[in-house]
Amino acid sequence: MKRKLVCFCEHEFESEVPDSVDLSEQPQARQAILEGEFQTIQCPGCGKALKPEFPVLVREPGWSVFFVPELDRVAYYRGKLPYPVGEVDRVAIGYDELVEKLRIREAGLDDRVVEVLKYYLLQKVLEHYEGEAEVRLLFTGLEPAGLVFHAHGLRDKEVGVMRVSRQMADKAAGQLEGKLREEPFSQFLAAPYVSINKLATETPE
Ligand SMILES: [Zn+2]
Repeated sequence: MKRKLVCFCEHEFESEVPDSVDLSEQPQARQAILEGEFQTIQCPGCGKALKPEFPVLVREPGWSVFFVPELDRVAYYRGKLPYPVGEVDRVAIGYDELVEKLRIREAGLDDRVVEVLKYYLLQKVLEHYEGEAEVRLLFTGLEPAGLVFHAHGLRDKEVGVMRVSRQMADKAAGQLEGKLREEPFSQFLAAPYVSINKLATETPE
């Protein structure tokens, strides 16, 4: 649909932004998401590349994720989004989460297991953390040694790298069924919004 944009140069313009993307038909869209170029729109006035976030359904055969802009996070929690999310497998809020969901899928992992691992990693990180910024963990890929996570918000502009072995991940996968019924896991493992960020940023009514 047509979206209105206002550039930093104050130029106002409209741009056609698709509200649904099929990755099997548009493999270049997958690449664009992973490389941070998705929804990049050039200002016709000054030529600057803008990166607005607009809601979009991203799907491929057998799987779908609805992308909710970070600015709409609280509205989503309160069930007050001004647009329908529809019947989807997953919801990702903010660009980083969308990239993460694709990476988890590419790695052939269950995102619920990844979120359980992130929960434990975060507990460990927060034991020694005295800052005030919100710490967020993101799965970034698989290495021979195991799963790699980046921690954002620990220190200014620094990213902490953490690894979890494949054996640990397999063990967590084996315990998943139980976790689905156990607090606090059940709170953030319920589809479609499967993310520990739900715990960190949930705001009271
Ligand atoms: Zn401009």
